[in-house]
Amino acid sequence: MKQFGFLGLGIMGTAMARNLVKAGYPVTVWNRSPGKTEELEQLGARRAISPAAAMAECDITFAMLADPAAAREVCFGADGVLSATTTGKGYVDFSTVDATTSLEISCAVTARGGRFLEAPVSGSKKPAEEGTLIILTAGDRTLYDELLPPLEKLGKKILYLGEVGNGARMKIVINMIMGGMMAALCEGIALGEKGDLNVSDILQVLDAGALANPLFRLKGGGIMADSYTTAFPLKHMQKDLRLALELGDKMVQPLPCTAAVNELFKGAKQAGLGEEDFSALFKVVRQP
Ligand code: NAP
Repeated sequence: MKQFGFLGLGIMGTAMARNLVKAGYPVTVWNRSPGKTEELEQLGARRAISPAAAMAECDITFAMLADPAAAREVCFGADGVLSATTTGKGYVDFSTVDATTSLEISCAVTARGGRFLEAPVSGSKKPAEEGTLIILTAGDRTLYDELLPPLEKLGKKILYLGEVGNGARMKIVINMIMGGMMAALCEGIALGEKGDLNVSDILQVLDAGALANPLFRLKGGGIMADSYTTAFPLKHMQKDLRLALELGDKMVQPLPCTAAVNELFKGAKQAGLGEEDFSALFKVVRQP
């Protein structure tokens, strides 16, 4: 059986690596902060001392990292993935990054004879735990075909979108829409509260009609109770809005709503809410 590497054991990476181990795949894990490998090691995973060590030891290595800077550092940095990329090795990046970062990583890996698949995911902590993510792959088709069985342990829908960059752009478009929906929900609840409406009534009305959706259902209750268990950190939502605006600049597509939503999330990050769930945006939207 092929040996898999997994780099980046944050909220998503831990859950995804756990599912691979539980499915019986041999997995070698690495995380920048070493304490986070312990749970996986107890489940049977091996620990590598660097991304290069994981890449050297494994046939195919996955990464789930915070942002473009982290994805670049883990690939191009000292003891990075690239230094151990040799002919036939596979590298799969689940991180949400811009298409340029993904393409640069892809070109560098393939120039060394490796195979690359970008594979950002839609779905949060719970879908990652339950193996029901939507995985947006693009890149090396042979790697995709080879990886379908393990990817099916992580996701309920695995798409192959063609050229590297298409997965990154798809993910950015989807999360841009999600950021706007969250901002609209927070403003609606804040306005409703000021207008003496019951928040639970607002959520019920939303859920009964054409605006019903799992996001409002999932996050509405937490906002109402002022309780924000972190599934998707607010700082990552702001990063995705920034990536959407950069893409909008490149494509000459005006995004005035997203620009305003980004300012809201930037304000929330500045207010110290970056590590909280992105639904904590409500704390800055609601004015006394
Ligand atoms: P997270 O909990 O913040 O984890 C981030 C991971 O990146 C950690 O392992 C962290 O290592 C690592 N990292 C950060 N900077 C690094 C650097 N310079 N070098 C090496 N490693 C670095 O984030 P997450 O929620 O798992 O999200 C991971 C990615 O998936 C992000 O791109 C996010 O946008 C995307 N995503 C998240 C969700 C979600 O709901 N959470 C859903 C879909 C997609 P340390 O432990 O050392 O800090």
